[in-house]
Amino acid sequence: MNIAVIGAGYVGLVSGICYAELGHSVVCVDKDPSKIDALRRGGIPIYEPGLQELSVRNAAAGRLRYTSELHEAVRGADLVVIAVGTPPLPSGEADLSYIDSAAAEIGEAMNGYTIVAVKSTVPVGTNERVRDLIRGRTDEPFDSVSLPEFLREGTAVKDTLEPDRIVIGSDSGAAAEKVAELHRPLTDRIMITDLRSAEMLKYASNAFLATKISFINEIANICEKVGADVTQVAEGMGFDRRIGPAFLRAGIGYGGSCFPKDTRALIQIAGHVEYEFKLLRSVVEVNRDQRLRMLRKLETIFGGELRGKTVAVWGLSFKPDTDDVRESPALEIIRHLVESGVRVKAYDPVAMANFRSLYGDGGVDWCGGAAEAAAGADALCLLTEWEEFARTDLRRLQKVMRKPILIDGRNVFSEEDLAGTAFIYYSIGRPSLNQGVREEMPILQY
Ligand code: NAD
Repeated sequence: MNIAVIGAGYVGLVSGICYAELGHSVVCVDKDPSKIDALRRGGIPIYEPGLQELSVRNAAAGRLRYTSELHEAVRGADLVVIAVGTPPLPSGEADLSYIDSAAAEIGEAMNGYTIVAVKSTVPVGTNERVRDLIRGRTDEPFDSVSLPEFLREGTAVKDTLEPDRIVIGSDSGAAAEKVAELHRPLTDRIMITDLRSAEMLKYASNAFLATKISFINEIANICEKVGADVTQVAEGMGFDRRIGPAFLRAGIGYGGSCFPKDTRALIQIAGHVEYEFKLLRSVVEVNRDQRLRMLRKLETIFGGELRGKTVAVWGLSFKPDTDDVRESPALEIIRHLVESGVRVKAYDPVAMANFRSLYGDGGVDWCGGAAEAAAGADALCLLTEWEEFARTDLRRLQKVMRKPILIDGRNVFSEEDLAGTAFIYYSIGRPSLNQGVREEMPILQY
């Protein structure tokens, strides 16, 4: 199959490269020439384990190329996949301007029968809007397909080559079958739906996962007050096949380019049809509060005054194994610390450059390593569970810090890690591990 992928970001690049790996002829298009230059030179503009090798191998085999010329790429394609961004507008609604302009350009370039699939996460009805935009610009025959993407950054290649399921929404049986054929080497779990159900299914999946995270975070907050351990609670819940163990890790809440924007967008989608999604509103609110709880704990440890303190921050990406910092909890936490008069020393293994370009430089010392960030700090906040941080020898760490205060926002450290240290330690929903900040457990009477 000849495939053109429009948008070479986290989704488009991984999909395009994996389609080439399956033996198809793929051209990835991006309007950012610096991305295309880097890709043509064998580089990868994002951090995604395993992706660069696949890109280089498939380009060398002549199955994969990169261009900023959308027209030329679309002209020869049997399938055009739209994977441009749908960032949030201030209202929370998805900004469809990138989708609209890609659709218009595709319509102008199309040449002979083409399937146009939308992989971007888009509100219900958008595929019909794309169809109308294309129809207004060409007489060539085409079919629309909704092809929602479920990959996770950090494991995107594996998720694409071994997906849990492929969802194909279309009102053309023949087009759906062609797209199903493309994905059959990857999985048998291929589900064909109508256009609107496929669009809704993507938002519903992300909203449900976000709900699981906010749910376990609230359970963790209650655990702290009643003297239960959220990791044990979550493990026991996860054995129940109706619940499952995934997304039950308590912490400082979700971030990233998908959950925050998709939850807010779904609230707006519901609002447009006069339905108030009360549950999801709470999920969003709980997630916002969860970041601030950690900061309140730090303030309490310092007797209410953060001004003049030096705080090390480990982890800037929204989760490990990615350099994506969009809506990372670190953005809000660092901003709050700096506004409170704190000198922040920050370090992340791969996301420093992206973070600096989004955050700016004000009030932060950017450090070359974890130990450098911790040196001389009055407290350390761990915000992303990178493997590198989990391997830290806490006995050595406490020697380089001015005060041994550790706020573990991702429950990385265990009782054994802490043994023999003098850390004042706070983690989420594990009161028996917390040292120096343990609250008196109330006598429970009912
Ligand atoms: P991204 O911002 O990393 O990439 C989008 C790319 O599209 C950019 O490189 C941009 O330059 C390019 N682009 C925009 N308009 C273009 C045009 N007209 N022609 C050519 N290129 C154009 O975005 P992303 O993270 O890959 O997300 C893309 C979509 O996939 C979003 O709707 C997102 O919600 C969804 N999604 C993302 C993930 C994820 O983990 N990132 C997972 C599932 C779904």
